[in-house]
Amino acid sequence: MITSLEPVVIVGGGQSGLAAARAALSAGLRPVVLEAGAAPVGSWPDYYDSLTLFSPARYSSLPGVAFDGGDPDRYPARDEVVAYLRRYAGSIDAEIRTGARVTAVHPRPSGGYLVHTDNGDEIAAAGIVAASGSFGNPYLPVLPGQDAYAGEVRHVAHYRRPVPYAGKRVLVVGAGNSAIQVAYELAPHARVTLATRAPIQFLPQRIRGRDLHHWLRVTGADLLPRAILARLIRHAAVLDTGVYRDAITAGLLTRREMFTAFTADGVIWADGTHEPVDAVLFATGYRPNLDYLAPLGALDDGMPCHVGGVSTTHLGLVYLGLEFQRSFSSNTLRGVGRDASHVVAALAGDESGGSRRRRQSTKRSPVRR
Ligand SMILES: Cc1cc2nc3c(=O)[nH]c(=O)nc-3n(C[C@H](O)[C@H](O)[C@H](O)COP(=O)(O)OP(=O)(O)OC[C@H]3O[C@@H](n4cnc5c(N)ncnc54)[C@H](O)[C@@H]3O)c2cc1C
Repeated sequence: MITSLEPVVIVGGGQSGLAAARAALSAGLRPVVLEAGAAPVGSWPDYYDSLTLFSPARYSSLPGVAFDGGDPDRYPARDEVVAYLRRYAGSIDAEIRTGARVTAVHPRPSGGYLVHTDNGDEIAAAGIVAASGSFGNPYLPVLPGQDAYAGEVRHVAHYRRPVPYAGKRVLVVGAGNSAIQVAYELAPHARVTLATRAPIQFLPQRIRGRDLHHWLRVTGADLLPRAILARLIRHAAVLDTGVYRDAITAGLLTRREMFTAFTADGVIWADGTHEPVDAVLFATGYRPNLDYLAPLGALDDGMPCHVGGVSTTHLGLVYLGLEFQRSFSSNTLRGVGRDASHVVAALAGDESGGSRRRRQSTKRSPVRR
C-alpha cells in the first residue's frame, strides 16, 4: 500500500539508522526506519560471542544516550552493545518497522522515491538514508583451486566460537582486527596460522596510561579524512594490549605470507610447499550492502557514488555508516553521530529545495532523475 509521502525513510535499524533517526528528528524531519531483522540492534547480535568493543564505554556512545553505569573505562561486551542499542532505539520517538527488508528503491515520477519491502509495502519518500551496513555483504576472494578444495571455507562473518575447530588445522586469512582476534581465540583449541599479504601492523591499545581513543579524541586524529590517514598508516592496523604480539613472539600464533592456491586437501604456500588444512577462515572485510539501490542506478559496481555520504547521483539520497565516509571514526559507535548530522543536513536542504540543489546545477553534477 502506498502511504502519504514520508519526509525520510531510513533503511537499516542498526547504530547508523538509529543515529540518522535521531538527527532527522532534531532537524524537524519525521523518519520511518525500516529494519529487516526482528529488532533495531543492527548486526551486533551476529558478531562472534567473545567480541568486546575496541573502545572503552566512555568513548563508545551514540549522541544523546551514554552507556549505563559501571566502569567507564571497561570495554563493553557484544551483548551489552545489543542492550545499549535496544535502549537507544527506545529513546527515539520515531516509527521503527522491524521485519521489513527493503528490496528495491525506485524513482517516483512525481518526485522522491518509492521504497518496496519484502512484506509488500510501498512507501513514498522524499529522502532516503541508506544505513544498511556491510555485515550482510562479506567479501570472499576466490583463489586458484578453491572449487576443488574439500575442506571448510568460511568468511569470519559466520564464525561464532572456537569449539567447532577444536583439534583442527586452521588458517585465518587477513591482517585486521577480526583476523587476529579470531586466530588468537582459536590458538588454544586448534593449530592456527595467520596468512597475510603484508606484515601485521599493531597499534598500542594504551599509550602513557590512557586508552588510544583518548588520544584519538584529543589530537583530532579521529576526524582525519581517509586521504590524510592513508599517508600515516599504510596497512590495516590491529589494536593490541600486547597479547597478540606476545603470542606471535612466543610461537603460540604463527604468521605466514599468504598462500597462493588451494589443493583438494590444503593450500600451497608462497614458497611452493603444500600443507593439508581442515578449514580456512577469510577475515577479508565487507562491502556496502546496497543491492536495493541498484534499480535507481545509484551504484557503481555495487559501490555508492557519494561525497561524504551525500549521493552524487541522486538528490535526496544519502548514505551512513560507510567505512571512512568522512573520517577514521565514521563506521564506529563514537563517530557515526557526527556523520548523521552531516547527511541529514543535506537531506533537509534538499527538502526545502536548498543550497545543494543549486550547487549541483551549477556544477552540472550527474543528477539522473
Ligand atoms: C566484527 C566487528 C567488530 C566491530 N567492532 C567495533 C567496535 O568495537 N567498535 C565500533 O565502534 N565499531 C565496531 N565495528 C564497526 C561498526 O561499528 C559495526 O559494524 C556496526 O554494526 C555498524 O553499524 P551499522 O548500523 O552501520 O550497520 P549494521 O550494524 O550492519 O546494521 C545494519 C542494519 O541494516 C539492516 N538491513 C540490511 N539490509 C537491509 C534492507 N535491505 N532493508 C532493511 N534493513 C536492512 C540489517 O538487518 C542491520 O540491522 C565492528 C564491526 C565488525 C564487523
